[in-house]
Amino acid sequence: MILRFLFIVVILYLFYRITKGLLKVSSRKKPEVRYSVNGGVIQGGNLVQDPYCKIYIPEKDAYKGFLNGETLNFCSKDCFKKYERLQKKES
Ligand SMILES: [Zn+2]
Repeated sequence: MILRFLFIVVILYLFYRITKGLLKVSSRKKPEVRYSVNGGVIQGGNLVQDPYCKIYIPEKDAYKGFLNGETLNFCSKDCFKKYERLQKKES
């Protein structure tokens, strides 16, 4: 009799776990914001903005340009050269 009771408890517990698991899966389907525009996170990496062409690139892929005592991130070396020229023209 006690074994039978335990069996029912186990079944109910498993049923509860399965239901909870299903709820978790369905809630995962909700659209979520993967990244924000300003230095957010995309696929586990930080996004940085190219100050010249204004596009966002993952920090690990960015070209590091050193200008006026700070390190800036560019999509390419070409953009860095253009930005450098622009800065020199302005000052
Ligand atoms: Zn660029």
